[in-house]
Amino acid sequence: MIQQMSATTKAMQNSPHTRNAPRACVVGAGYAGMACAMSLAKGGYQVTVLERSRLTGGRARALELGGHTLDNGEHLLVGAYIELQKLMQTVGVAPEQALLRKPLQLVMAEGFALRAPRLPRPLHLAWGLLTAHGLTWSQRFAAIKFMQALERSQFQLANDLTVDALLTQHAQPESLCESLWRPLCLAALNTPSQIASAQVFCTVLQDSLAGPREASDFLFPRVDLSELFPAPAMRWLLQQPLGHSVHLSHAATRIEPLAQTIRVHFHASENADQSLTQDFDQVVIATAPHHTAALVPDESRFAPLHATLNNFEYLPIATAWFGFANDVRLPHALLGRIGKASQWIMDRGQIRAHQAGVVSVILSAPNPTQLADRDALMATLLNELREICPSLPNPHWQKLIVEQRATFACTPNLQRPSSATEDAKLWLTGDYVLAPNTRAYPATIEGAVRQGQATAAQILQRVAAPT
Ligand SMILES: Cc1cc2nc3c(=O)[nH]c(=O)nc-3n(C[C@H](O)[C@H](O)[C@H](O)COP(=O)(O)OP(=O)(O)OC[C@H]3O[C@@H](n4cnc5c(N)ncnc54)[C@H](O)[C@@H]3O)c2cc1C
Repeated sequence: MIQQMSATTKAMQNSPHTRNAPRACVVGAGYAGMACAMSLAKGGYQVTVLERSRLTGGRARALELGGHTLDNGEHLLVGAYIELQKLMQTVGVAPEQALLRKPLQLVMAEGFALRAPRLPRPLHLAWGLLTAHGLTWSQRFAAIKFMQALERSQFQLANDLTVDALLTQHAQPESLCESLWRPLCLAALNTPSQIASAQVFCTVLQDSLAGPREASDFLFPRVDLSELFPAPAMRWLLQQPLGHSVHLSHAATRIEPLAQTIRVHFHASENADQSLTQDFDQVVIATAPHHTAALVPDESRFAPLHATLNNFEYLPIATAWFGFANDVRLPHALLGRIGKASQWIMDRGQIRAHQAGVVSVILSAPNPTQLADRDALMATLLNELREICPSLPNPHWQKLIVEQRATFACTPNLQRPSSATEDAKLWLTGDYVLAPNTRAYPATIEGAVRQGQATAAQILQRVAAPT
């Protein structure tokens, strides 16, 4: 799949299909970049994707560990990820096979359990809350009243505030917050409720818990995160007419808007000293905000954009992987913990039979002190696994993967850049962008693909390709 830019460029110039097609470059082959590249290709652009890593997927990518193809971090998807599922279908990945669908089940080892039955909306949620284990009747009614109040306001807040402040405003009992709302907020926004945006949390609740019954289903990937969408999207792109190309291990180093075109400077990783350039009609930077800042030209007209990008703060996600004997099975495929270092524990064997014995423990937004001594942290996590499964043998292998900038901190009134920039030929996309006519999501795969599509739609609307 890895192609040399010089050879491809020659082929592109000679191809009869491509003579009139406008050319777009997408920098970054994560979920947003590949969704954007597909839409531009469908709209008549000849697309070149540059990806500095040797794999597609970005922050949601495959990783080889302990003889298994696993992921850089466990990703939980929900039925509300509609656009992702449509795109998967387009590139030939059947969602019903690649994703294991299970009705919402939030089960905590400490006793709380909420299960949404297969009933139509809104009965599934009302029933789930009314029958939740580990809550008193007054806590159950408080949760239902909270959801009803949000529903009445159509999940729109007059002013954004923190999730904790919203929960206080709605008199949510402390133990309900601890068992349900705070773990949900942390899982969905990767931002602790003390600093998380209540408006974005409401949007997530609207689309998932308060959406159609299927929207709150859990979707567990059965294939690795590169193969779930970005790698098949790359193959799809390469099969389309117009001579599209995807260059893995190629990093953009500088973007230079010219009068008529826009120039991308880049290099291949095996030849980092040799700087190459190519001119395009449109360039989309589809990287994480801290990488975007390095690519947006250092010109005074982009100063406000630089300020917005530099304002982003980031939070880590740590995933501890343990490889046990393949007859090890935990009591649940997914189990939450309250007040422990472990937040969610996943038994991979219950999702993908060939990964029996592989267990992951997810730590969203862990604090730096937790990560300071990684051996001690792994020992703590193993002890916590033994609290739920006392007969657990020693693992054959274990590995802690820490993504330091896993997501942006999703705080109230966060200023996000739009997809258009001060130069009509330079665009942005990614999970942190807010294109016109889109809603602000947390850093998620669905947010990334929706922004990728919206940026492409804006380009196609403003700069239509000749038919
Ligand atoms: C551990 C972890 C767990 C997560 N859990 C979940 C979850 O449960 N559910 C969920 O929905 N989301 C989750 N997320 C968030 C989700 O992965 C991201 O929101 C999403 O993948 C972002 O996609 P993106 O395309 O916007 O950016 P990225 O994935 O960051 O893609 C940007 C791409 O640009 C490339 N790039 C950077 N600089 C250059 C350059 N100069 N030249 C060329 N290429 C470049 C990068 O290599 C990368 O491939 C998680 C993230 C992590 C890290």
